[in-house]
Amino acid sequence: CGIVGVLGHHEVAPLLVEALKRLEYRGYDSAGIATVNQGQLDRRRAVGKLVNLSDLLVHQPLAGKAGIGHTRWATHGGPELRNAHPHRAGPVAVVHNGIIENFRALREELAADGYAQESETDTETVALLAKREMDRGAAPVEAARLTLKRLHGAFALCFLFDGEEDLMVAARKGSPLAVGWGEGEMFIGSDAIALAPMTDRITYLEEGDWVTVTRAGAQIFDAQDQPVARPETRVQLDA
Ligand code: GLU
Repeated sequence: CGIVGVLGHHEVAPLLVEALKRLEYRGYDSAGIATVNQGQLDRRRAVGKLVNLSDLLVHQPLAGKAGIGHTRWATHGGPELRNAHPHRAGPVAVVHNGIIENFRALREELAADGYAQESETDTETVALLAKREMDRGAAPVEAARLTLKRLHGAFALCFLFDGEEDLMVAARKGSPLAVGWGEGEMFIGSDAIALAPMTDRITYLEEGDWVTVTRAGAQIFDAQDQPVARPETRVQLDA
């Protein structure tokens, strides 16, 4: 339901939770974050209100200056912990808004290939597809690109990778997604409101676009994988 991503200078867990709070108005049934810290991808998830995630983070902190977060409005799989985002398959973590319409066929294909799901979500299918591409030798960006080619539906996605503290890959197809520009920091949000305390410099992805983000900036590609320029706007929001 709500997506946020930060490649920052400082610890990102508090920034991610703060950004998710700004998306609470959209409604949600669970929440979670993932970070990469000293090369290690890890995550924390909690059912119910964001305070449950904050409380969990007090007892089980999540360090790292690169991270993604999500508030979930369940569409496939009940509002349970194992279905909460971020979903992880090996070196890949994914947060997702919307619906992957062909996930059942993809899930069967993956299961036949030895990639079994732990959750009931359409989102974990995306993580497993990317993991399989990496198992076959693809680097993270290529794995995400190939995965996106397999997906039908209306969705926004953001990927984070084990061992990659300066990379996010995100995509927009039928569900909004914005890139936020900072000073040596970069952001992803399903909504500019989520990013308001961090930046007002926003580039909206257009339909079918996907983007690679590092702290140095963002490279946007269209649905045909051609590099494209999208305008940067200043968003006026009451912080
Ligand atoms: N379809 C996904 C799920 O049910 C994402 C739902 C959302 O947009 O929050 O987990």
